[in-house]
Amino acid sequence: MRRIGVAVAAALAVVTVACAPEPVARPTTSAATATTATATTTTPPTAVPGPGGTTVPVFQHPYEYGTPQAKVPASQDGLLPVVRRIQTDKPYVFITIDDGAVRHPAALELMKKSGTRPSLFLNTKHVVEQPAFFKAFQDDAKAAVHSHTANHPNLMGKGYAFQKQEICGNADYLQQQTGVRPTLFRPPFGNHDATTRKAATDCGFKALVMWTAAVNDGVVQFQAGAKLVPGDIVLMHFRHTFVEDFLAFLEHCKAHGLTPVPLEDFLSTTQP
Ligand SMILES: [Zn+2]
Repeated sequence: MRRIGVAVAAALAVVTVACAPEPVARPTTSAATATTATATTTTPPTAVPGPGGTTVPVFQHPYEYGTPQAKVPASQDGLLPVVRRIQTDKPYVFITIDDGAVRHPAALELMKKSGTRPSLFLNTKHVVEQPAFFKAFQDDAKAAVHSHTANHPNLMGKGYAFQKQEICGNADYLQQQTGVRPTLFRPPFGNHDATTRKAATDCGFKALVMWTAAVNDGVVQFQAGAKLVPGDIVLMHFRHTFVEDFLAFLEHCKAHGLTPVPLEDFLSTTQP
């Protein structure tokens, strides 16, 4: 009897271990298992089916998004600050998506299902092609829209009037489309000079945002080290590889215990 009991216990242990990673609802055949099933189904999924047979990692919000977590750094010499990474002791990273050249039909679904709120730095010349496509990110995924100039020129070395027209004109256009004045500016190619900062400041921006990592062709690339670390700002683009790029970023976050949170919450214009 004892021998059989041990065998059964061992078999149960194996089943329990084998089932552990699968958050599958169990059949409700009795009151006891019904209670268990209820507890199981209320556990949020860590991944859900995505477009084209993909699996989308899901991130729970570690705080109420839209709540200021840190104030934007102070201006320097009357010019807006240049932000390369976010100072945080929490396991948070930030995803930014630039330009808008390719309107990938799966982009919105990926943002919504993953529970992330990317920050979008958009050019007027791309948004005008189909404003509703980009407005949907704000309305349905609560992604914030920010500025990246009207025509994506290299601003460095250009005159004040030219730079201001590119930067303010883009902000005015995005405000007209979204109903919200963008607060963050990213210069094309990351290229900027003192004139850029002067123009962006005069256009009302609160920070010039750079990046510390990027995603290209489905591969996360780092400026230093071999993985993302808390506070990293990641750059990707609206490209044909949007699904591969976005999933590569999400999977990297999952693998390293990081959560993508809204950049705006850590560059807030109001005190937390
Ligand atoms: Zn760009």
